Amino acid sequence: MGQHDAAFNPITFTVWFEHVAGMNTRLSQAMEQLMQVRPQLTDDDVWGLYQSYVADVDPLAMHRIGDELQRVTSTLAKAAASTGEDAGQFGSQLETLVTDLQALNDTLVTPAVIKAIEGSARMRSSTQALESEVKTSQSEVQRLQSELTRVRDESLHDSLTQVLNRKGFDQRLADMLRQLPQADHSHGLIMFDIDYFKKVNDTHGHVMGDRVLQAVGEVLKSCVPSTSVFSVARYGGEEFAILMPDSTQDEAVKLAELVRTRIKAMKIRDRRTQAVVLTITLSGGVALMQVDDDAQSLTSRADAALYQSKQGGRDRITCV
Ligand code: GH3
Ligand code: MG
Ligand code: MG
Repeated sequence: MGQHDAAFNPITFTVWFEHVAGMNTRLSQAMEQLMQVRPQLTDDDVWGLYQSYVADVDPLAMHRIGDELQRVTSTLAKAAASTGEDAGQFGSQLETLVTDLQALNDTLVTPAVIKAIEGSARMRSSTQALESEVKTSQSEVQRLQSELTRVRDESLHDSLTQVLNRKGFDQRLADMLRQLPQADHSHGLIMFDIDYFKKVNDTHGHVMGDRVLQAVGEVLKSCVPSTSVFSVARYGGEEFAILMPDSTQDEAVKLAELVRTRIKAMKIRDRRTQAVVLTITLSGGVALMQVDDDAQSLTSRADAALYQSKQGGRDRITCV
């Protein structure tokens, strides 16, 4: 890392770690190719590599890397501490020997032993320095690990509404489809689209449009208990989604209706006068996972249901 121009940060750290640990072949290949053209990688190079080859790595894998690093550094710290202790014991043994030899008045042997004592004292202090360096790097690993969690977390959330962004949604959907639902349960997907949102922007401006999107995000979060495994995402523009692992059609329709009624009841007020300036509605489509469904087929069915709600006059939920 030190030989390159890129700054030290969690991203650089992860890119190098995954390369050096030999755990990301595609990254290593891309990195080696890049270094043939540019031996000293820049911030942009590292960021590009991170986005193309690392960013989607399973967060669990990231935790495993951190844990592994912690384990290695703590083993090193213990080894350094016990070496230091051994050196200390050896030093005291030598000191006793010197005293004994001095009592015997053996002038030939004593200077050599005194040298050995000095050597062991030097060894003790260098192992102590090593021990403290390992301790520092241990806390650095910890700091980088939590920083990395934060960066990864940020990259999966929408900055305007604080719900999952499209990338976060895609990851969560893939996770959901990998799990097997309980008997008589399935996995649900609800897609929502704000009705006539273009008109909100046209009439009240983009800033107000953004405020409405934030408010919709809040309402969606309020409908999903924080203890549940359901996730709320902004799918794109004025489209939102709820992922409902291990649920039933009844539960999904109920939740979609709850969102619809709360959104309809929501009043957007003028910040200064508190007068109600607008209300909105949204349409929703519900789909439940079927055998052989993949992310695309499930999303398409929810989308088709949403389209039916729009065709049917908006402000409604359709389940397919
Ligand atoms: P429909 O009922 O058929 O869904 O009509 P609509 O007007 O909601 O749909 P349309 O697709 O015509 O317009 C969506 C609008 O959403 C257009 C776009 O400018 C707006 N939009 C998308 N993302 C944002 C955003 O981040 N902020 C704001 N303010 N507007 C956005
Ligand atoms: Mg839309
Ligand atoms: Mg719309």
